[in-house]
Amino acid sequence: MLKSMGWLAVAGLMNMATNPAGAAEAAKSAEPRFKMIVIAELIDPNGKEEIHKPYVDAAKVWLNKLALDSNLSVKYIESPNVLTDSMVADVSLIWQMNFTPFRWNAAAKAVFEKYINAAKGGWLGQHHASLYGPVLTTETWPFFAKLIGEINYKNYIADFASGDVRLEEPAHPVFAGVAAKFNVTTEEWYIWDKNPRPKVHVLANVDETSYKFVNQAQSGTKMGDHPVVWTYDGYKARNLYIFMGHHPNLFQNADYVTLLRNAIFWAANKPAATSLVQAGIRASVGPRAGAHQARNLAGRRIRTR
Ligand SMILES: [Zn+2]
Repeated sequence: MLKSMGWLAVAGLMNMATNPAGAAEAAKSAEPRFKMIVIAELIDPNGKEEIHKPYVDAAKVWLNKLALDSNLSVKYIESPNVLTDSMVADVSLIWQMNFTPFRWNAAAKAVFEKYINAAKGGWLGQHHASLYGPVLTTETWPFFAKLIGEINYKNYIADFASGDVRLEEPAHPVFAGVAAKFNVTTEEWYIWDKNPRPKVHVLANVDETSYKFVNQAQSGTKMGDHPVVWTYDGYKARNLYIFMGHHPNLFQNADYVTLLRNAIFWAANKPAATSLVQAGIRASVGPRAGAHQARNLAGRRIRTR
């Protein structure tokens, strides 16, 4: 059940609205600054609504606004198996927002490997992108395994825990404007059979001692040193994995949203739009997010679904 929204044609609208430019300038600005493809599964293999659809829906609202503000083109696909060489030829970023490393067909894998090896653009992977290994599937994909640090998925906190994410390299461009430590209220905090740290360049970890479990019976799901954001230096293409990506309330988390926005521009190897920098790095998060954060800081009980 593949349905594509097609390229989001928002280019130039902002410029025309805020600047009475001549026709030539308007035509020039109609060219997007860059294109990206977002892979986000909405229906699971059993034909049910995929569990992360609420996250994807919230991400789309946020991303469509960013695309409008920053003059980007976004194509949403529900499976990588529609990818072709020509589709990715002028794409600066493939964002694997919600899809596993398995159920890719041979053609899709070939397109992806060629794209990454040629550094045609970058890759941003989230959440399900680290669901690799025998707990879930007998499928293997050595190229992808390297990208995510040669780890195998082991377990998750099904009923969620809040946790503090700690930056290891706060000067990295993806962390511009992000607090050195920020709380994520509702995550599953996957653990893997081994630590990816020896294989990848870790940029942030979650402090497991900060966990507040919804269900204390799941408090054994820990791995000690627990990376949650990293990049693999062994491939030519820029790439970044951000584990956090389950709950739609992440889009009310100013630090998370800033990280995500930085990650898009960094992985695509494109500077952020000047107007956004001038408007302030947290401009895309509304006042509600500020209130939400303040409540969390005040230590009130964290609401979960
Ligand atoms: Zn999840």
